[in-house]
Amino acid sequence: MTTAALRVPTVQDYARRYPGVPHEVILKEDLLRLGIRFTPAAMEAARGCRTQAYYLFSYNISSHADMGEGVSTAAPEDLILHGGPYGLKRTRVRAVLNHESPYVVDVIDGRITILEHGAPVAEATYPTKPAYYGRTFPDGLHYEQVIPLLYDSYAFITTFRACHYWGDKEECRFCDINYNLRELRKLTGDHVTADAIKDKGRLVEVLGAMAEEPDPSKRMLTILMTGGSIVRSVKGGADNATDFNLPYVEAIRERLGRRIPIVMITESQPIENVRRFRDAGVTSHNANLEVWDKRLFQIIAPGKEKYIGYDTWVRRLVEAVAVMGEGGVSPNMVSGVEMAKPWGFDTVKEAVASAQEGFEYLMERGVVPHLDTWCVEPGTTLAGHPPVPLDFLIQADLAWYETWRKYKLPPFAGYGPVGGGPGVAVYGNTGSVDLGG
Ligand code: SF4
Repeated sequence: MTTAALRVPTVQDYARRYPGVPHEVILKEDLLRLGIRFTPAAMEAARGCRTQAYYLFSYNISSHADMGEGVSTAAPEDLILHGGPYGLKRTRVRAVLNHESPYVVDVIDGRITILEHGAPVAEATYPTKPAYYGRTFPDGLHYEQVIPLLYDSYAFITTFRACHYWGDKEECRFCDINYNLRELRKLTGDHVTADAIKDKGRLVEVLGAMAEEPDPSKRMLTILMTGGSIVRSVKGGADNATDFNLPYVEAIRERLGRRIPIVMITESQPIENVRRFRDAGVTSHNANLEVWDKRLFQIIAPGKEKYIGYDTWVRRLVEAVAVMGEGGVSPNMVSGVEMAKPWGFDTVKEAVASAQEGFEYLMERGVVPHLDTWCVEPGTTLAGHPPVPLDFLIQADLAWYETWRKYKLPPFAGYGPVGGGPGVAVYGNTGSVDLGG
């Protein structure tokens, strides 16, 4: 009997511990926390798919060098899980690359299959390219280098791909934005670009092409705009995230009208600037809080604490609801960073209780935080940290969902459907969106 046959697959084991939690949620969270690796056959099958486009952070557990030549630039950006021994409904998940993961993507009997320790747990489909991928500007720059499409749904725009929070005393401890930009400059590939600042004219041209996508399954649902924090003048121009981003918003609205939502993700802004965003056509403003516990926020996001401070950050989130509406204020929470050693909570119970306290406080006031499972990235001060316990991720997802239902809140706007159960959501960064139904 093989080792694979002796092991109880994680999905099965945790489905027994958490009856009522869909298999899809368990597998998705395990893939997000542990990553996956691809066999040569699975990489071969990925030729021509929508590949990783490096939209802001590395979002991988292994470094580019550790994964082997070309893997990090040729692997699919995300996957659709389905079928397999648990009859999974179509569930989107980000492809987190980890060359030491127990999860492997292989091709078995002609089907792309995910195996855990050699045992099949799901089938997968790779994303195919939308029509605008491969188009080029006269200098050869590909359209997808300007704006990648994530989950077949999000136009993901990094207007400023660096962060002015710099070094150990300012950079968020889970974040590799500045490291990643340095690494990108060493890579080559059609879809890789390391420009720190997006060209407005090109950005609008690509969005125009995206708006003409003929395949409804690849239609952009939303425009997500994000970047690193800005605390001083960028190339002699704007010295804050509002003034820096507003010209982009105005140009997008001029080209596309109001049809598509714009989610603007910046560091916390004064409320008058949130109003300016709204008036220009931004439909959501998300100032990512990252972690609820105040002491942990101060340690884990030292730049945010230094330039703005926890109390101001939380107060502005609540104030922004009156400007953007419920669902229009959705700070990201890095799910699991509550347990980051040596500062975090020691037990799952304490960590979940803290996360839940945050959900309760924020949702009661109309703020709808959203979760992104912590990916322990190689270029961060937390590189090499052990994975977050799966129990935490499942319990935090449940706490998020139950609190969201309790306050009868809308989905966090612009990220697609939430709460419809497996097979409905498109957001691939957390299992919390696949609960319900
Ligand atoms: S504010 Fe923190 S999370 Fe955001 S880009 Fe800067 S270092 Fe990264």
